[in-house]
Amino acid sequence: MFREVVLGLGDNPVVEGVLKRYGMQLGASRFVAGSTLPEAIEHIRRINKRGIKVTLDHLGEFVRQEAEAVDAKESYLAMLDAIHQSGVDANVSLKLSMMGLDLSRDLAKTNVAQIVQKAAEYQSFVRIDMEDSAHTQSTLELYEELHREYPQHVGVVLQAYLYRTMDDLRRLSTPNSNFRIVKGAYMEPVAVAFPSKADVDENYVRLVQESLRLGNYTAVATHDEHLIGRVLKYVYENGVPKDQFEFQMLYGVRFNLIESLAQQGFTTRIYVPYGRDWYAYYVRRVAERPANLLFFARALIDRT
Ligand SMILES: Cc1cc2nc3c(=O)[nH]c(=O)nc-3n(C[C@H](O)[C@H](O)[C@H](O)COP(=O)(O)OP(=O)(O)OC[C@H]3O[C@@H](n4cnc5c(N)ncnc54)[C@H](O)[C@@H]3O)c2cc1C
Repeated sequence: MFREVVLGLGDNPVVEGVLKRYGMQLGASRFVAGSTLPEAIEHIRRINKRGIKVTLDHLGEFVRQEAEAVDAKESYLAMLDAIHQSGVDANVSLKLSMMGLDLSRDLAKTNVAQIVQKAAEYQSFVRIDMEDSAHTQSTLELYEELHREYPQHVGVVLQAYLYRTMDDLRRLSTPNSNFRIVKGAYMEPVAVAFPSKADVDENYVRLVQESLRLGNYTAVATHDEHLIGRVLKYVYENGVPKDQFEFQMLYGVRFNLIESLAQQGFTTRIYVPYGRDWYAYYVRRVAERPANLLFFARALIDRT
């Protein structure tokens, strides 16, 4: 309920106006690693020093003009150059709607293919984030085409709240598949997604287990300690090698937990978003946890 209200409010133009004006001072900076690429690289360096890898995201989604999509592609090429030149341990995550998917599928494919090509030259990797369910089918189709061409250098995200995901996982699993499994962050109707958190959590564990069983490289992206415990139990009981999976968390969320997993010798990675277009990303983070709204309210009171 809380989640639906916050995601709904986030679409309100008045709320959007106020938040865009003051949001960075009101807590958004907790989830966003600066507005420029050099700032983001510094954040990555600090994270790497704690034994944790990064996936870097340039904030932005749902572009309306071809020129914006081309700019987005250029920004990702620059990110891959900067990662390579600085020597930090990071790959990149991107959204197809930022690459122009809503304008033209070919435009998005051309843009992302150039990014994946560059990632392949650097022996790096591109993760295609998953957006709302209106984009699931087109995202998976485009991913499949790119994966056929660059099997080692592109992966996609699968969302546990969607009924369809187990079928997608089984159909898409091939040698070299690399999936990030998440619960899902968008507001979805009951026609396509489990409405209850308990069902999403159960499906999450089933998906991770199935992905590991099928031999896929699996990024377990959750801050849910209980689910992480269940995944670890499965891993130990079934002798899943440590190099077949990693844990991922979001910048600004449960750092101690991911650091302790890194200290136990697991591969870990933090999703680091940067850039000026932070609004939609921030609203999704607030929606995930009532305490984030309190944090926001406290910052607002402190300012007044
Ligand atoms: C690396 C990564 C990449 C992601 N990529 C995508 C994607 O491509 N598409 C997509 O739809 N979703 C994505 N997500 C978001 C995901 O779908 C969930 O919305 C998000 O991770 C919250 O769910 P949870 O698994 O942490 O479990 P929850 O049950 O929501 O949370 C478990 C616990 O984690 C902590 N926690 C969770 N979220 C927050 C928060 N925002 N602030 C503070 N504490 C928090 C709380 O202690 C909470 O009790 C991604 C998440 C991660 C970690």
